[in-house]
Amino acid sequence: MERYRHLNTYLKEKFGERTLKIPVDGGFTCPNRDGKISKGGCIFCSQRGSGEHLKLKPIPVQVKEHLESYRGKRANKFIVYFQNFTNTYDTISNLKKKYDSSLIDEKIVGLDIATRPDCINQDVIKLLKTYKNKLDVTVELGLQTTNDYVAKLINRGYSLATFTKAVNMLNEARIDAVVHIMIGLPNETKEDIIKTTEYLNTLKISGIKIHSTYIVKDTILEKWYKEGKYEPITLDYYLENLLYVITHIDKNIVIHRITGDAPKELLVEPKWNMHKKWILNGLDKIMNEKNLFQGCKKI
Ligand code: SF4
Repeated sequence: MERYRHLNTYLKEKFGERTLKIPVDGGFTCPNRDGKISKGGCIFCSQRGSGEHLKLKPIPVQVKEHLESYRGKRANKFIVYFQNFTNTYDTISNLKKKYDSSLIDEKIVGLDIATRPDCINQDVIKLLKTYKNKLDVTVELGLQTTNDYVAKLINRGYSLATFTKAVNMLNEARIDAVVHIMIGLPNETKEDIIKTTEYLNTLKISGIKIHSTYIVKDTILEKWYKEGKYEPITLDYYLENLLYVITHIDKNIVIHRITGDAPKELLVEPKWNMHKKWILNGLDKIMNEKNLFQGCKKI
């Protein structure tokens, strides 16, 4: 019995069979790194914009190699996931070229685009809508927190109002929105986790990704850690707050992730972050023992 709405189960229900993602590096940058908004980026953002495991090769090559690898034999349906940096941050014609170049096989049934809310506009929406006839289209937006003060601290570079506006635009276009949040940000309080969860319940979103805050080499957060300005969170703290989010979030929202994927060689702290099973099993254990379900404490 699943105590929260797992992505794999949701995709299986939606597409009638196991459906997996193909992560792709689209060769984008980010306005929060190229100087348009700032040069530093979000304080936790790694040099590869959260795509360390991806290799920057031509997009069709990345998709082809994935489909031909053992991972491509594990399912018959796939969703191309433009993962790292800001995948709507380019001219519309370049975006179209890049997205189109990924659609090289009949097995591809969906397009999943990770981006920033300030890089969603009507032209982008118009383009994304053109794929909806043939594909399932999802947009993933990094929110991290609803606390604008914490957002400033982490140098997110946009306000909550901008985020809300982007979600509304996606809703109007009937494009699924998936929201990324983080637990363990600097200066975060329990109240922030509560408010962020409550806020998510007011939105029309299809899914969330929950990440623990981890420190990666060569980031501003690493500098803060070395200067004693940031203390990494413990596994217990993460599990406690993760449990809060899961038990208070609407039961229809699909939980895409409850762990982050810090590359071993780049992870500074917390080391427990390398052990996905500790998080997955830890959460299952508490939910089983206490007989808790997703949304069971939602008011
Ligand atoms: S928006 Fe994403 S890619 Fe850009 S700096 Fe922040 S984490 Fe990095």
